[in-house]
Amino acid sequence: MKSILKGLGLKLIVFGCALMIVWPGTVLAQDPITIIDQSANSDFREHITFTLAAESTSEIVEATLFYQVVGQIATTKNEAEFAPGNAVTAEFEIDQTEATNYLPPGTSLNYWWNIVDAAGNELKTERELLLYLDDRYDWNTLENDRLTLYWYEGNDSFGRELFERANLALDTLETDVGIALENPIRIFIYANHRDLLGAISTGAQEWTGGQAFTRFGVVVIGVGPNQLDWGLNATTHEMTHLVIHQATENPFGDLPRWLDEGIAVYNENRDELDSDFKAIFDRAVERDELMTLRTLSSPFPSDPYQANLAYGQSGAVVKFIIDTYGTDAMAELLDIFSEGALYDEALEQALGVDTNGLDNAFRTSLGLPPLAGAEVSAPDEAEAAPETEPAAEVPEIEVEEEAEPAASAAEENAVVAEQPAQESSEESSTTNGLSGESSAEAEPSGSPLGVGCLGGLAPLFGLGLALSRVRRKE
Ligand SMILES: [Zn+2]
Repeated sequence: MKSILKGLGLKLIVFGCALMIVWPGTVLAQDPITIIDQSANSDFREHITFTLAAESTSEIVEATLFYQVVGQIATTKNEAEFAPGNAVTAEFEIDQTEATNYLPPGTSLNYWWNIVDAAGNELKTERELLLYLDDRYDWNTLENDRLTLYWYEGNDSFGRELFERANLALDTLETDVGIALENPIRIFIYANHRDLLGAISTGAQEWTGGQAFTRFGVVVIGVGPNQLDWGLNATTHEMTHLVIHQATENPFGDLPRWLDEGIAVYNENRDELDSDFKAIFDRAVERDELMTLRTLSSPFPSDPYQANLAYGQSGAVVKFIIDTYGTDAMAELLDIFSEGALYDEALEQALGVDTNGLDNAFRTSLGLPPLAGAEVSAPDEAEAAPETEPAAEVPEIEVEEEAEPAASAAEENAVVAEQPAQESSEESSTTNGLSGESSAEAEPSGSPLGVGCLGGLAPLFGLGLALSRVRRKE
């Protein structure tokens, strides 16, 4: 339970006195409306409650609570319930047991009240800040001005390694990719799968390894104390998506999937592809079986092998861009996308090549022949991708799967693959504009649902399955 108490009434009175001292000739009437007290408190997944006590010289007839998620533009206006009178106590509650009202842990809310009395006097309170935390756990924290890491199991070095790796990832994003964090990030490390599912929205799937709530600046991941290696990569990967989306979000378009995922993969290890991806990528190069960049601009394949190739190849392309064209070009590319741009136009402007041109330069660097003519000249469907790509709506999900049974893996993927269809692209494009991962946030009601993202290998908590990693971002 978190409680914030403010003596606003006292501040207002003091301010009024100061005015009288400075301008003694001015006759000031006392403010007709006075705030006696205000507070906000919450129980995670239960409620967030705002309370205001106020008095006025005439009957108070309206008390309206406004709140806004920090970093978002939309403001929510809510009429509070109270019995009108000269002294009132008004209350407004956000019911957190309602799925459509879901707010992730670490949501930071600005809120303020507007009071009106029968004589037409009106008072707007100062903005206050509420940090909505999961109060069911005793969190340890490490923080600086860029991010705060929360964890409750695992020792100090467990937390410190995750914290330092996350900071390193932010450094790399600045130095290699040219994007800086816009708003501070909060990362919550839940110690097991059950706890994780208890913290994210009710729509979360059993196999979800975590979620990136891009519009809230929050990453929620399940990492047990014995899963540190996985946790370091997964945290880096998800946090990278979050920063990319902060930097490029706009109402007009999305990033090509290969760029979004490629930066996240690159950021896990800037020197070389993670071993899970490397073998598959190398084999595809050897056999000249790489996917085309145009194909990788859309949602990734559901086939586990192809999905891993898609992630690995995307990471390799991003590394190729940074090594060949430079950080400035990458930064410019993201800057162009932040204004909303078609894929080919953005690439041409920043790198001097379109999608196929980049693809061929990449292939040449690997000793592969250029794309076949048909592929090069079939840009129609790819060009439409920025507008129609349903991927923008769907959470990226981390799927774990058992290494051996291809059949069961396919089933899990089938589940994941269905995800996109369930999300309406219209909903997410209106509310959210772009970020592929925050699409789930775009509920019809405008409710701030989070997005499932998790590219990373997710070990299944409780089942002890470690394995080949399949990254899914539908
Ligand atoms: Zn991802």
